[in-house]
Amino acid sequence: MADQASVIKVFSCPLCGRSSNHEEDAQRCYERCTQARAAEQSQTPDAMARTLLREELQRGLEPIFDGLRTGMEQVAELEALKRKEFLTSKEVARLYGIPYATLDTLRSRGGGPAYHQVHRGGTVLYRHEDIREYVTRARVRG
Ligand SMILES: [Zn+2]
Repeated sequence: MADQASVIKVFSCPLCGRSSNHEEDAQRCYERCTQARAAEQSQTPDAMARTLLREELQRGLEPIFDGLRTGMEQVAELEALKRKEFLTSKEVARLYGIPYATLDTLRSRGGGPAYHQVHRGGTVLYRHEDIREYVTRARVRG
């Protein structure tokens, strides 16, 4: 095979990162590195192997925990919005899925859900009941 040279694999030691074209070399390096670290931390090679396995497991679990954390944060954010009395257009968009640009357009045409505004041009605030009432009234029979 003429192009076999282009598919040379590279193996690297997970501990020191040294790479080699031979898997056995990388494996031997890993064993040497494990022993070196065990000596460094005055652990038996067996205990060191368990430590390394635990570290590897933790690295594997991290993305799963990160995903769970993100999901929980999103749920917490939505729950916090549900408990707020007044919502900004962006919060309405986040909680009810009505794009805030749509709310802006409706308002500029004198329509859309009832809202509160402390002064002209100030922050627009919506109450849950007004959003729900508007959406309920907007029911369409197909
Ligand atoms: Zn190594």
